[in-house]
Amino acid sequence: MIYDPALITDSKIKIVGVIGAGQMGSGIAQVAATHGLSVRLLDAQSAALDKAMANIGKLLDRQVTKGTIDQAARDEALGLIAINTDYAHFNECDLVIEAATEKEAVKMAIYKAALPHLKPSCIIASNTSSIPITRLAATTDRPGQFIGMHFMNPVPVMKLVEVIRGIATSEETFQTIQVLAAKLGKTTAVSEDFPAFIVNRILIPMINEAVYALYEGVGTVLDIDTGLKLGANHPMGPLELADFIGLDTCLSIMQVLHEGLADSKYRPCPLLVKYVEAGWLGRKTGRGFYDYSQTPPRPTR
Ligand code: NAD
Repeated sequence: MIYDPALITDSKIKIVGVIGAGQMGSGIAQVAATHGLSVRLLDAQSAALDKAMANIGKLLDRQVTKGTIDQAARDEALGLIAINTDYAHFNECDLVIEAATEKEAVKMAIYKAALPHLKPSCIIASNTSSIPITRLAATTDRPGQFIGMHFMNPVPVMKLVEVIRGIATSEETFQTIQVLAAKLGKTTAVSEDFPAFIVNRILIPMINEAVYALYEGVGTVLDIDTGLKLGANHPMGPLELADFIGLDTCLSIMQVLHEGLADSKYRPCPLLVKYVEAGWLGRKTGRGFYDYSQTPPRPTR
């Protein structure tokens, strides 16, 4: 859905809180800051915050080298991001985007901790990949101001934001988020509130099927990825993509689909479960279907 650029100047969102400074939260913070918003970035782990700031700095430096932004814009963007582990810094936020670990209990505990510090007009958006927005919204004091805003990874590069309305989400909240997404240079696709929404409903079962193909010995990691890259014209193979997304996130999404739709076709592959149990979560832990301690990464099977 593309919005009238005239509307963009009307964005009511000036100060954004981002919860979770992992790969998604840091990308969201970077994009918000490069579009002139003040960002309060929060994580439970201060090490994650330091890592996020170092990463954002590196990515902005790369943009300066490429000439897509100048040094002043880079410094200004970095200066707009304030990091913290305390929700008291969220008191002026117009919007809070929650991008913490894909676990329902974690997200609910976060809302409970954040709510006392939010002003009444503050909107809450979850970047969840799969958890029903209506269910998350119902645990807050403001289901009308709660919405799904599902960015894609890597956030600065990917053009899409999936917007998901819960049953109680107000039209005003929906419009405000559409205008903000346009201001951030993103195109939106609107999904109804079904498990995993549109993109992951289709993408993650394909990845799970690729893991089944590996598990059953249909092909090696390289054969499966080469097959889909060259045979289906995908820019990344499904196992490479799984490592990029994070195998824990892929597994959580399959579990949400399996439980939410009660269909055995969504059964998570036992090999995916085993990799997650081993702590082999993909790129972020240095090992998944590929071993990233070597260049180029070495397939593990
Ligand atoms: P990640 O593991 O890189 O980061 C999660 C961060 O959340 C960590 O830094 C962790 O310390 C923090 N966190 C955990 N519990 C917290 C708490 N109680 N309070 C504050 N911070 C807490 O994960 P990610 O890939 O960035 O995913 C984050 C969210 O974005 C998930 O809901 C995921 O489903 C969604 N998402 C992920 C992708 C992807 O490709 N990885 C794409 C779209 C959406």
